[in-house]
Amino acid sequence: MKLLNGKISGGYELKQFKGQPSQELIVQVLPEHLYIPLSKTDTKIKPFVRTGDKVSAGQIIWQDDDSVSSPIHSSVNGIVESVKKMDYLEQQVSVVKITSTDSTELEKVPGFTNDWRKLGGKDLEKIIYLSGTSSLGSSGIPTGFKSSVIEPEDVQHIIIHSTDSEVFNPDVSVFLKDDGVKKFTEGLSILAKIMGKASIHIAMSTNTSTWFQVIDNAVSDNLSISFHKTKAKYPQSHDSVLAKTVLNIDIPANYKGINKGIVILGIQDVCHVYEAVVEGKPLTEKIVALAGPVFNDNIHLSLKVGTLISDISTGRLLLEDKEDIRFINNSVLTGKKSNFESPIGRNTEVLIALEEKRGQDLMFFAKPGFKKDSFSNTFLAKILPFKKTINTNLNGEQRACLSCGFCQNVCPAGILPNVLFPYVERDRLDETAVQYGIFKCIDCNLCTYVCTAKIPIAAYLKEGKKKLLEDAYVKEDDFINSYNLIGLKAGRQQVGCSPMQPKEQTNEAAE
Ligand code: SF4
Ligand code: SF4
Repeated sequence: MKLLNGKISGGYELKQFKGQPSQELIVQVLPEHLYIPLSKTDTKIKPFVRTGDKVSAGQIIWQDDDSVSSPIHSSVNGIVESVKKMDYLEQQVSVVKITSTDSTELEKVPGFTNDWRKLGGKDLEKIIYLSGTSSLGSSGIPTGFKSSVIEPEDVQHIIIHSTDSEVFNPDVSVFLKDDGVKKFTEGLSILAKIMGKASIHIAMSTNTSTWFQVIDNAVSDNLSISFHKTKAKYPQSHDSVLAKTVLNIDIPANYKGINKGIVILGIQDVCHVYEAVVEGKPLTEKIVALAGPVFNDNIHLSLKVGTLISDISTGRLLLEDKEDIRFINNSVLTGKKSNFESPIGRNTEVLIALEEKRGQDLMFFAKPGFKKDSFSNTFLAKILPFKKTINTNLNGEQRACLSCGFCQNVCPAGILPNVLFPYVERDRLDETAVQYGIFKCIDCNLCTYVCTAKIPIAAYLKEGKKKLLEDAYVKEDDFINSYNLIGLKAGRQQVGCSPMQPKEQTNEAAE
């Protein structure tokens, strides 16, 4: 077994927070209504179903072969009630509302087979595309069907990660226990066959790396895998930090691993690949971890895509008033907000519920006292075994920079956030900010999190990068040429805007 120790520059261990998901997995009762989110941007393609239509579980209800996207399926058997816009991850998106009858019968993906090794790469790509599984990962899985901004033959590396670097992380054993390891390793073999040139890497934190040997024992097909033991430090799971830790490859700010030929996936994503190809299962179900101190039980739920948060949370919350709760998708520091009436989509792995504290917004500092997290060791939680509690309150006002240097210490990009943000704050942006490395900032928000003076540093830097691009101090071509980036033409075509807005590019590929 090839075992390597991964290093991260900067970063911060966000540990011992109350509300970590346990190993328990429960199947969510089928709700009466499902709300399946479609594309996040307005493509020309409408859903294939209309109000009153009967739909089957696994039936494709949206597909656009001309854009970077993957088909979307009905999660249940039922009747289409409406197609309307709804709030979904801080955007208004088209959503198909289906009244469910059952989900016992599932339309299988054409071509699936247990004997997949006899299939050619193109056949496998088609199954993965038609199953919708190609929407998973940080930027989608490349197939010959425009499911990602690059083609399978352009992929140089595949990184599968479970780095425990967020405040709340899914428990990896939920996916790997029982026959999970078999699904995972066979899914890896399928991906290796499609992306034949790619090297395969698995990155896991020191907490979960005991799975390395189990995985290595289960691997077949002579797969060559490099195993990387990583520190459980935020933001290890971000594309650019993973690429640096695992491959020593630099990705400039605002671009993704896919733009350097790196496909980045989670453990559950690989299991879905197996289920699509071997079992013919379209992507209609997800396992979602319920995290945060406001859930009364931090379990994992197996649920249908399109289940509303209100259906999940009924009877599972410690606070009664929904105005007192903030739901966040996947990451406390960078995740999108959801509300009670939002559906769970295909890319949600962790649903976080925090207490909404009035008066402040945006920041996610913990409560004062011994249950507060503190980079500076100020609080007793550093030495006492209490679980820390996190909510949405800033607990204080912004002050002048104290030159404590915390933001510099944690910055994974190795820049000086405290030197850079005043250029934006005082409206004095010019080439100097570029020379100081503002474009290395990966928008992880960690500097803001640790800032003693509660300065929204990361937001200033984000604004600064936007302005510098608008004022042409830096051009996209500078990044493309100096970093040999790929897949930007497809991204530009799809979102109709600059690839310097990678979140839109990524999310579109993912949906
Ligand atoms: S948001 Fe940018 S400046 Fe702040 S810690 Fe992250 S990479 Fe560094
Ligand atoms: S963490 Fe905040 S107060 Fe400390 S140096 Fe950075 S900007 Fe200044």
